[in-house]
Amino acid sequence: DQELKKTRESFFSRMKNIFLRKSTLKIDIEKFLDHIEEILLSSDIGTKTTIKIINNLENRIKKEKYEDDQKLYEFLKEEMKVPFMDIKNEGLERTIKKYKKKPYVIMIIGVNGVGKTTTIGKLAFFLKKKGFNLIIGASDTFRAAAIRQLEIWSKKVNIPLIKQHMYADPASVAYDTLQSAKSKNMDVVLIDTAGRLQNKIGLMEELSKISRVMKKVIPEAPHEIMLVLDSTTGQNAFEQVKKFSFFVKISSIILTKLEGTAKGGVVIGIVDQFKIPIKYIGIGEKIQDLKEFDGKKFIDSFFL
Ligand code: GDP
Repeated sequence: DQELKKTRESFFSRMKNIFLRKSTLKIDIEKFLDHIEEILLSSDIGTKTTIKIINNLENRIKKEKYEDDQKLYEFLKEEMKVPFMDIKNEGLERTIKKYKKKPYVIMIIGVNGVGKTTTIGKLAFFLKKKGFNLIIGASDTFRAAAIRQLEIWSKKVNIPLIKQHMYADPASVAYDTLQSAKSKNMDVVLIDTAGRLQNKIGLMEELSKISRVMKKVIPEAPHEIMLVLDSTTGQNAFEQVKKFSFFVKISSIILTKLEGTAKGGVVIGIVDQFKIPIKYIGIGEKIQDLKEFDGKKFIDSFFL
């Protein structure tokens, strides 16, 4: 996992430093915990989750009168995996296959600039490779660039794109896309949406209208609402989950740009706080730079 090197190296080497100085634990537990807390916070795990982990560590040290650093190190690892234990994340491929009807409709939301359009291209490529037929709907009609970019991706991946002119009604584009998906017996539909979070009311109305209109074609649609977040924005990513949660029920998350940051801990905090599974991570700008995400494996790679 070369792509996650930055997070791993900064986290791992700093943790190792603390744990190697064996005497610290015996001399000053407070200082030792402060150190760990600082590392967790600096990898963007978030305050709430960090406090939880530190409290559990502290209790364990008191209760079991720890003198063995290795055991504590293992315990820290376990604690960091906890958020992923109670989250159902069977993987998109299985979900789509299990769904007996067609198509499976995914609405993709996220603030402009997080990598939403690129992620749609990558996801389309990924699912196509897995053998699914798909179609994309360009319902972010407020950005000419987004429509253009989706056109480029869809040609590259050889997947049909349904679009209208700029400023067209996003719900109408979604409607056309679902009609087309139905008539072509497609497996999956990806619907892009606008990301103008600064106009909250407008966006909320737009997203609910898209959903409402889609239901006229397929009553269960959208089957999944996927939020795209930029991992390099740290605490902003947390805020975006909160804001979107006000008006839609987010089913899953894709975290982009994880290869360029030392703050990969954001994945732990987000899953812990919001109980929403992270299904994929973006690890570069190219079309193949999308990976299925496995929380437990991710933590293991932190500790080597
Ligand atoms: P949108 O405004 O949310 O639709 O964002 P775009 O898809 O246009 O992407 C914004 C920028 O982020 C582009 O330069 C992308 O190439 C880049 N980008 C998207 N995903 C990733 C990723 O996983 N890693 C890196 N390094 N760049 C990414």
